[in-house]
Amino acid sequence: MSGLVLVINSGSSSIKYELVDVARECAVASGIVERIGEPQGRLTHAYDGRTSEWNGEVADHTQALTMAYRMFAETGLDLDEAGVAAVGHRLVHGGKVFTQPTLITPEVVETIERLADLAPLHNPANIIGIEVAQEHFPDVPHVGVFDTGFFHTLPPAAAAYAIDADVAERYGVQRYGFHGTSHKYVSERAARLLGRPCEDVDSIVLHLGNGASASAVRGGRAVETSMGLTPLEGLVMGTRSGDIDPGVLLHLGRHAGMDIADIDELLNRRSGLKGLSGVNDFRAVTERREAGDERAALAYDVYVHRLRKYVGAYMAVLGRVDAIAFTAGVGENSASVREDALAGLEGFGIEVDPAANRARGGGERVISTAASKTAVLVVPTDEELAIAKAAWEFV
Ligand code: ADP
Repeated sequence: MSGLVLVINSGSSSIKYELVDVARECAVASGIVERIGEPQGRLTHAYDGRTSEWNGEVADHTQALTMAYRMFAETGLDLDEAGVAAVGHRLVHGGKVFTQPTLITPEVVETIERLADLAPLHNPANIIGIEVAQEHFPDVPHVGVFDTGFFHTLPPAAAAYAIDADVAERYGVQRYGFHGTSHKYVSERAARLLGRPCEDVDSIVLHLGNGASASAVRGGRAVETSMGLTPLEGLVMGTRSGDIDPGVLLHLGRHAGMDIADIDELLNRRSGLKGLSGVNDFRAVTERREAGDERAALAYDVYVHRLRKYVGAYMAVLGRVDAIAFTAGVGENSASVREDALAGLEGFGIEVDPAANRARGGGERVISTAASKTAVLVVPTDEELAIAKAAWEFV
């Protein structure tokens, strides 16, 4: 039996995929089909150092996956010859039901459908991905790994919102957390990097990508996280506001003539770095800031300030912090964010080594001084590998 697992991340207008060799812990091939349902679709596929691209209309998710399948056959690796042992699906919202990777059955699909109220943009697209993949790979296990799963251990004090308890209960309003696969993976790698068992390590994980979230992990179990009922709460993100006074929504509803859809669009798509500076990509913000753009400078400052607030809060939540781990696009690549977020915290036992922080080269690394009581780490995330490993357990 091959150790190849196909990982699928099916969104509303795109499908990302990666073929993972579980034994060698590496990606064999990967790709993305974008703008599904639009005239100008695109498929980008990478295998063996070569990237192939196809442009044209992709009518729906079924066609998208059929094309990816064909692309595998034409440019490598032929999936029929190689043999896929399992398919892992990245699923967004498991509610309170799915706390662990789950073998997908018709009942499981029905339950994910029921949970779609909590994630109207994500769960329906996830289900389409499952159904289409099951047509292509009917004879292997399909396993769902939920973004919310790792956070089912949040204590009630961290999970509850302070609103009318009956309303919260009836509508499932509580904090669920997202990016769980990444937070789990990075906290485990951080413990390994320190050479200690996971159960002995308390850490703060800062996942800073387009979406961004922080978590506090005590001995391998999540005890706090910055995202809530939806992935809108918490840190400043590419286009999302993160924390905001709920009174702002009321104010805009009453005085700006904005309805729910307008406010949804404002907070999810026109806020965060984009709202403050005009651009959502962190590198673009950095370039503008360095060129003297004041709006970009403010966006950077708000981003870093929010991050520091969360680090401080999670230090208090944990009491003892063995490691602070930075991950995802910004966390792995921006030395200045890492430096500025933790500057001046020597009194709390956190001391970034400027040379180690700025040193070139990727990979897992320690960027704190030997004297720092809390180790500061960079740990590249690999959600696909984590999902593939979880799926492999069912083979
Ligand atoms: P996601 O998976 O959430 O789409 P990523 O983890 O790929 O996001 O992170 C994307 C973000 O990382 C973008 O804002 C991008 O500008 C930023 N990023 C990528 N490379 C760098 C870099 N070298 N320096 C600073 N930011 C970077």
